[in-house]
Amino acid sequence: MFERLIRELKELERTKLISVPIEADQDGYLDRECPNNDCLFQFKVDEADWEELFKDEKVFCPQCRHEAKSDAWFTTEQIEQAKDQAFKHIHGRIDKALEQGARDFNSKQPRNSFIKMSVKVTGTKPMHYIMPVPSKEEMQLKIQCKVCNAKYAVIGSAFFCPCCGHNSAQETFDNSLKKIQDKIKNIPIIRKAVESVSKDEAENTCRSLVETSLGECVVAFQRFCEVDFTKRAPEKTIKFNAFQNIEIGSTYWNDIIGESYSNWLTIDELTRLNLLFQKRHLLAHTEGIVDQKYLDKTSDSSYKVGQRIVIKEKDVLELIGLVKKLVDTLRQK
Ligand SMILES: [Zn+2]
Ligand SMILES: [Zn+2]
Repeated sequence: MFERLIRELKELERTKLISVPIEADQDGYLDRECPNNDCLFQFKVDEADWEELFKDEKVFCPQCRHEAKSDAWFTTEQIEQAKDQAFKHIHGRIDKALEQGARDFNSKQPRNSFIKMSVKVTGTKPMHYIMPVPSKEEMQLKIQCKVCNAKYAVIGSAFFCPCCGHNSAQETFDNSLKKIQDKIKNIPIIRKAVESVSKDEAENTCRSLVETSLGECVVAFQRFCEVDFTKRAPEKTIKFNAFQNIEIGSTYWNDIIGESYSNWLTIDELTRLNLLFQKRHLLAHTEGIVDQKYLDKTSDSSYKVGQRIVIKEKDVLELIGLVKKLVDTLRQK
């Protein structure tokens, strides 16, 4: 009665591959996950592009730029669900073989024998058919690489194209500014939520969000300038953090384009840009406490040495507008 089971087990032994399909989401995107254990960033790629544009040898993580072969990017959930499907499938095949074996045994009993034996296999599950692993919810931020045209989607922000590894300063800058704008927009909601726990914590959390946003604006602008400058003048070396400084950054552009921030912004705008950059400098180096250097560089009469600067949501939005104006001008040069 065990012939069928033995045959099925032998068959299973020969089966090297149980293939479990993976479903794309409604927008046609597949879930992927960075295999770098420190990162594990989840993103999506357009299914057709994954087939046609992506290379087997190399796929890049949009967040950390880790490189790995194309078969290394299954998500933790996909692997778990595929294992589960494969296990159930094997279980189903064994159950079916046992059941059929029992049926064969029972049907072979001589009709008129004195002792009758029958075998019943209980607890079996119906034959399991492999189901595709469902996709996660669609991601809103969809990006198309300007170099290789591959389409991918992320939550939050991305720095590199997963298909060609291209670091797009343009897209990264736009994404970063959008992220900061979203953060500022959501501050009232965050404040309300944390206030239910503690008013002090709500105040501290929101102040910290506004202050870090100012720093993020400067970093986004700095990264854009570094990448864009290097593209235009690959032979020139840029001093560390040069574009965090309005005066130095402006000189760099003047060297290669013959124009600088003073050509692209009004005097008032340039004064405000400098002031906000200097405030960011204080937050990064003196925990926001005003020093003489700040007063010398900004002529800001609203503070004395030893005071702490105040940053509001509108300051961040203003800085976003100013760096955006500079970047938009640079894009046309
Ligand atoms: Zn990664
Ligand atoms: Zn690309």
